[in-house]
Amino acid sequence: MIPVSYRCTVCGRIYPLQEKIFRCGCGGFFELQGVSLFDKSKLKLRMRSIWRYREAFGVPDDLVQISMEEGCTPIVERRFDGFSLRLKMDFMQPSGSFKDRGASVLVSFISWMGIKEICEDSSGNAGAAVSAYAAAAGLKCTVFVPSYTPESKITQIRMYGAEVVRVPGKRQDANDAAISKSSSSFYASHLWHPFFVMGLKSAAFEIWEDLGEMLPPVVIVPVGSGGFLEGLYLGFDSLVRSGYAKKLPKIIGVQASACAPVHTAFVNSQNECAEIHTGVTVAEGIAVSRPPRARAVLSALRKSGGYTVAVEDGEILDAARSLSGAGVYVEPTSASTLAAWRKIRSEDRENALLVLTGSGLKATDTYGTFLQGGDAHRSRV
Ligand SMILES: [Zn+2]
Repeated sequence: MIPVSYRCTVCGRIYPLQEKIFRCGCGGFFELQGVSLFDKSKLKLRMRSIWRYREAFGVPDDLVQISMEEGCTPIVERRFDGFSLRLKMDFMQPSGSFKDRGASVLVSFISWMGIKEICEDSSGNAGAAVSAYAAAAGLKCTVFVPSYTPESKITQIRMYGAEVVRVPGKRQDANDAAISKSSSSFYASHLWHPFFVMGLKSAAFEIWEDLGEMLPPVVIVPVGSGGFLEGLYLGFDSLVRSGYAKKLPKIIGVQASACAPVHTAFVNSQNECAEIHTGVTVAEGIAVSRPPRARAVLSALRKSGGYTVAVEDGEILDAARSLSGAGVYVEPTSASTLAAWRKIRSEDRENALLVLTGSGLKATDTYGTFLQGGDAHRSRV
């Protein structure tokens, strides 16, 4: 068996895990090679957290996990428009979003490398997740946020003790600021670092375990950088390859119409996202105009037999109301999955599973404005 190592997805160069880097010298992003899967016969004896699937993350054997019992979020059933849907309540996590899965694995790995200071860029949820786990691990953390980031999200990051730097301009400018800081502080990037994606795979394993070692026919997930979609695909694919499951779910990726580079590339049969002109959207969590891992995301969509859907802000807010009316309070980015479900092919609507990624408590200001009939907070992308 080959040792777990970084492999550049552009030039193919291999790096050992001890190298303190987040991408290849050529600028390409890494994938991990040599990662195996867990032995399912051992799961019964393990704690309810993402770390029950530890072997599937590819982390070193002597790594000490930084965990707050993240993951193992429930799947509940609710009826919408005459259909019964399954909702993966993935916002029920320590910092209120699915990103705790990736942050737990990435911060554990960074601590294993002996690094004490990290930086990250985020429009909110990833910044909160990385700050939370940095606090748990005792690391110094700086988060670069776009200047339009809602105050509630910035407050959460500050409460974890991280320094917040507001960057004027677009989302991409915060990304550039973090990369330029990475010469003095390790860039703990949810966008670039493959161990973040490794942690996200755990959601696929939980879905399989909680549905009695079966996979649903259709999974709908929001797509910003696309890391969650990629992680779900990698998780489902490893289950099928190992014989633990029969067939990949069709993965449907949702983007906001105002910022839909992955959707545009998918419908035009492209393998990469072009720089596109983007507008504003209420779903600021998925407003990523230039996703660095687009090639892997587009490949995952196609290999699963899935496709993309773009939804308007009005459709997202209607869906948020429907979900809240069923007792499920999630942020607009998460509500985009129900908005998309209402537009997908009729044969895919039965038994779909929607992944709800972020708590509605993160978007209370946005919904407050919406209820008052104003123009809800929208992010410039
Ligand atoms: Zn390379």
